[in-house]
Amino acid sequence: MNNHVTEFISAYMDGELSEEEARHVEAHLQECQSCQEQLDDLLSIKAQMAAAYQSIDLPDGIAESVMTVIHQEEKERTRHHSLTKWAVFIPVVLAALFLLIQLTPGFYFGMSFASTLFNISLSIFHAVTVIISSLPYVLSMVVVIAGLIIAISIWSLRRLLETRTIFDD
Ligand SMILES: [Zn+2]
Repeated sequence: MNNHVTEFISAYMDGELSEEEARHVEAHLQECQSCQEQLDDLLSIKAQMAAAYQSIDLPDGIAESVMTVIHQEEKERTRHHSLTKWAVFIPVVLAALFLLIQLTPGFYFGMSFASTLFNISLSIFHAVTVIISSLPYVLSMVVVIAGLIIAISIWSLRRLLETRTIFDD
């Protein structure tokens, strides 16, 4: 028997083969002592490993500790995932909200109200600019008056300080 099933024995042992493959391996094992011995060896190794694993004295609660760590990592991953989800979700929601508001008739009222306010303030600003630019005389008068007021203030302050020094002496 030349077509040995060596490479399939491990998979056969673990039940990883398809029904057809398993049947083929089984048929071969019936006739080939070499492959049957290999299977026996593998089975014995597996049994020894299982026994060795069971003989390891694990500290009490180690399974619980491992599971706690796994759960914590899972929780953290979920939180990170939800954070990134929110980072994408928020702008989408805002965009959708903006579209919705734009499509709502109330928005037009709000928009017209806002634009009316804007137009009024723009008109006031324009009027003030026109008054100032068309009346440079008024502006210069205001500057002169302001300068006079400042000069008078400084003069009276100096007088006040001078009087103080006189009183101090
Ligand atoms: Zn064989």
